[in-house]
Amino acid sequence: MTPAAVVVSVGDELLAGRVLDTNAHWIASVLRARGVPLVRRVTVPDERGAIAEAVRDALRRAPIVVVGGGLGPTLDDLTRDGLADAFGVSIRRDAVLADALAARTRARGRPVTESTLRQADLPEGCVALENPVGTAPAILREHDGTLVLAVAGVPIEFRTLIERHLLPRIDAWPGRARAPRTDSVTLCGIPEAEIGEALADLMVRDRDPSIGSYPRLGNVTLVVTSTASEDDEARRRVEGDVAEIRRRFSASSLAPGRALPAEAVAAAAVAAGATIAVAESLTAGLVASLLVDVPGASAYFRGGVVAYADAVKERELDVPASVLAAHGAVSEAVVRAMAEGVRRRFGTTHGLATTGVAGPGADRGVPEGTVWIAVADASATVAVTFRFGGGREQIRGLAAGRAVDLLRRQLAGLPPTAP
Ligand code: AMP
Ligand code: MG
Repeated sequence: MTPAAVVVSVGDELLAGRVLDTNAHWIASVLRARGVPLVRRVTVPDERGAIAEAVRDALRRAPIVVVGGGLGPTLDDLTRDGLADAFGVSIRRDAVLADALAARTRARGRPVTESTLRQADLPEGCVALENPVGTAPAILREHDGTLVLAVAGVPIEFRTLIERHLLPRIDAWPGRARAPRTDSVTLCGIPEAEIGEALADLMVRDRDPSIGSYPRLGNVTLVVTSTASEDDEARRRVEGDVAEIRRRFSASSLAPGRALPAEAVAAAAVAAGATIAVAESLTAGLVASLLVDVPGASAYFRGGVVAYADAVKERELDVPASVLAAHGAVSEAVVRAMAEGVRRRFGTTHGLATTGVAGPGADRGVPEGTVWIAVADASATVAVTFRFGGGREQIRGLAAGRAVDLLRRQLAGLPPTAP
């Protein structure tokens, strides 16, 4: 049977919102990279009946079932019992395993209790597999072309046990498909809805390749995936779509291998010998942070001023009080003066500035979401304005993302905004 998997996460804490299910998140990408579709993820409470039902249901859907959590020593760890019920078998204590657990516990100077020994309980027909990073061994049942593996939920144990005991078995699985071909393109400064419109003929449901879109801070990463059975054909299709997307969005697409506009800024700044300083009002450090997310930013990034108050815009950036009074802090005149001021003060080739209303609510008559961004260089200052929605965090994030993109466009000699 071609492999497919179901992951069952066990734990009241996952359902209560106290712990995020990072195990399922992690294993999903590990399985995808191996061409094994994860067809369902379920989370159940620490209840014997719920675990048993989830495992039985999972085995009807896929030959590979991973159960995470509920293998510890305490009475609320019920995965062993749930597995036994799902398989219709009883539980017996593995004497060799019990001795090993007892010896290990004594070696650490701890008393051997019934709780310790419970971890040697195994459903009939299952084997225990070594856990090098914890006490609870993994439990494996291979039966009739199916594989059920239960492992501890502590993330380091989960990963170690999956890598050690599941992945080699998956790699040896008969009839395993290869991983799908995939590539991605990041587009900057174009709203996701407009991208969807412009690619409507490609982003059709059930087409191969499929195109997924993932927006973040004003950038959208498009992931192109082909599951064509011939590898050469899959690669040709993915390359074809990626080239077509780049053709349609040439000024807004990042070079292959780049996922952040700040990486494009880095390459362009180094190539041009440019240096950068930032003056930030509503973004208050976010732009600087995005720029230095790229390793090696010290080659061109000099520093910045968080000029939140008008007095700081005057004192640290030389924005004239008369300009502030006449136009207000959120205005083209002020953002230009900020960009030029920080460029002069820091002695850089480029100055980048943001000002805007993050909200909630309007500020001195300027509506929430109004943002001005400017970049100044030796020859000119370019300013653009936006009206963002989505609340304070989103407005500040988008403003920062767009500021980096404006700088990217300026350094590359492109028009300041997407057409
Ligand atoms: P357990 O193996 O059920 O005893 O889980 C031990 C600890 O691992 C729990 O208290 C959680 O903090 C953590 N944990 C369990 N399951 C998960 C999961 N799916 N993702 C992340 N952490 C988990
Ligand atoms: Mg638990």
